[in-house]
Amino acid sequence: MNTPGTAPAGDNRTAPSAPRSDEVQRLSADQTASLQLATPRLVAMAMAFALGVTALVWPTAPPAVLATWLGLRLLVVVGRLVDHRAYVAEAPDASRQLHWRRRLQAWVLVDGVVWSAMVPLFQPGASAMVQGLLLCGVMGVATASMLAKFSDFPMALLALGAVGVPQLVYFLLLATPEGVVAALAALLYMLAMAVEARHSQRRMNETLRLRHEVAVIADERSRALQAAEAADRAKGRFLAAVSHEMRTPLHGILGMAQLLRDELDHAQRWRVDVVQRSAEHLHRVIDDLLDLSRIEFGRQAIQPLPMAPRQAIAEVFDLLTPMAHQAGLQLRLAMAPDLPEWVLADAARLRQVLHNLVGNAIKFTTQGEVVVQVQASGPGQVCIEVRDTGPGIAEADLERIFDPFEQLDPGHNRAGTGLGLAIARTLARAMGGDLTCQSAPGQGSTFRFTFAAPLVPAAAAASGAAPTPNSQRAHNADSSAPAQAGALVLVVDDNEVNALVATAMLARLGVRSEVVGDGLQALQAIARGRYQAVLMDCQMPLLDGWEATRRWRLLENAQRLPIIGVTANASADTLQACLNAGMDDHLPKPFLLQDLKAKLLHHAPQLLNGPPAAQPPSRHTVQTPSPDPLPCTPAPSPTLRA
Ligand code: ADP
Repeated sequence: MNTPGTAPAGDNRTAPSAPRSDEVQRLSADQTASLQLATPRLVAMAMAFALGVTALVWPTAPPAVLATWLGLRLLVVVGRLVDHRAYVAEAPDASRQLHWRRRLQAWVLVDGVVWSAMVPLFQPGASAMVQGLLLCGVMGVATASMLAKFSDFPMALLALGAVGVPQLVYFLLLATPEGVVAALAALLYMLAMAVEARHSQRRMNETLRLRHEVAVIADERSRALQAAEAADRAKGRFLAAVSHEMRTPLHGILGMAQLLRDELDHAQRWRVDVVQRSAEHLHRVIDDLLDLSRIEFGRQAIQPLPMAPRQAIAEVFDLLTPMAHQAGLQLRLAMAPDLPEWVLADAARLRQVLHNLVGNAIKFTTQGEVVVQVQASGPGQVCIEVRDTGPGIAEADLERIFDPFEQLDPGHNRAGTGLGLAIARTLARAMGGDLTCQSAPGQGSTFRFTFAAPLVPAAAAASGAAPTPNSQRAHNADSSAPAQAGALVLVVDDNEVNALVATAMLARLGVRSEVVGDGLQALQAIARGRYQAVLMDCQMPLLDGWEATRRWRLLENAQRLPIIGVTANASADTLQACLNAGMDDHLPKPFLLQDLKAKLLHHAPQLLNGPPAAQPPSRHTVQTPSPDPLPCTPAPSPTLRA
């Protein structure tokens, strides 16, 4: 059997008519607080009314009685104000509100009784008009006092009763027909007021409850927001830590394997090649996983900057051409002549997606060709199609290949992670486009990559163009330039293996180097003025590379020292942090000999005795008319490169 107010078993609805005891307590506390805080206003009004009564009965009431009543009123007013100040000073919590509620009730009772004395004290001897006014006045006080407390029904009843009941008794004691009528009228009036007070209190309770619920929701929301922000910061720290912890040892393996390779005989070299290829594969897997985590953590920001799409696309094409030739495939590039020169897009992400698509096409195609076709596919949109003559994909698998870790034939694709297309599609969508695939078994595949590319005027583009990737500079580095005699580079790194790799690579380039292990030592060493460049690790104990660079830039005189930040974090944010700290460039680990050389050639060419590495004119900006334009859907005929 259910007890009253309990919901039946299995019914998990809450009964709205039965508020929980903590809710009742909270409501009562709210009511007490609001009544206590209203005290000064109420007693000021009451005192003004008492002075009005005094003026009214002044001609007929005995002065001693009038003075006593007025004195009592004043005492009540002072007492209530003192009580109010004590309440405000204590600012009681919910547990103390009951105490203050009782004190308030006591004052309401005393106050009401003093008011109720008005009629018996001043009526005798007064004119009929004054008697009527006194009666109206006392009922008015009872009403006002009750209304002021209507949010709290028991308190309202007390206020009404404290003033009204003595009147009622007084009228009955008169034992006259008028007295009985007056007593009855007072009783009816009090009943009507009590019913109204009950309704008002319910409405008020509902309002207070809703107000409280809103406050609770707002509080929960703000706590959830704080928790989300903390989680977001934790994710950021996690990614940075994972990136650092994995790339740092990988840099040691790759760097040392590359240096070791050249010192070995043929058989040993083959073994080191295996180490190197395995480390490279691990590097790819780590990069993919970190990319995917960044996307899932919502940290893969797209950074649209003015960029030349032809150049970015051609860079990927050039990078992968040797791989295609090695696989016995023809790689062709067709760019529509109406492709805009400068657009607003994220060049690095564009290259990343395209690299994945063309890389896959080469990887999975055993004979024939891979064609990359580029055209504007609408206002402010570019479309890149990558077509191959590979095995094709069954219709049932066309969506599955975009899921993380999905590989159609994992046994034959051990070099892959199954993450490339998932990342590529997410990036394409974040770039305002999409990535889809059309394919059928035995008929090759066509991947269609679109992205938003609003036009940028050439003049605006020149000032804010996206940087060329490291690989491009590495590619352009003059590998035969001999080192300048006496050239010295400071390597700042707390990781012994990484410092060893850097010094060994520098030695291979014919550059002498010295090593220190933190930012403070770096500042002391640089101050001696013996270095032509600094390779500055970023995350170090005592003083990190960013802060050390910032401090050195403030101390530095006219001659600017090239400082290249070396980090285990390849994100755009880290590159920006390096530039903001005053570094000249950023070299993400793991890096190869040619990457380091390209950076040195660019920022400290005198070290390698070569000319300053001016940015070479791009080989991709000039379009040669094609004798064999590809049938590019639906845009004008493109230009073909092979
Ligand atoms: P990965 O190449 O590292 O395995 P991807 O996410 O790039 O991962 O590709 C997922 C799978 O989609 C590949 O393993 C392969 O089975 C299939 N795939 C991708 N591109 C092609 C293509 N051009 N032709 C045939 N199959 C492809």
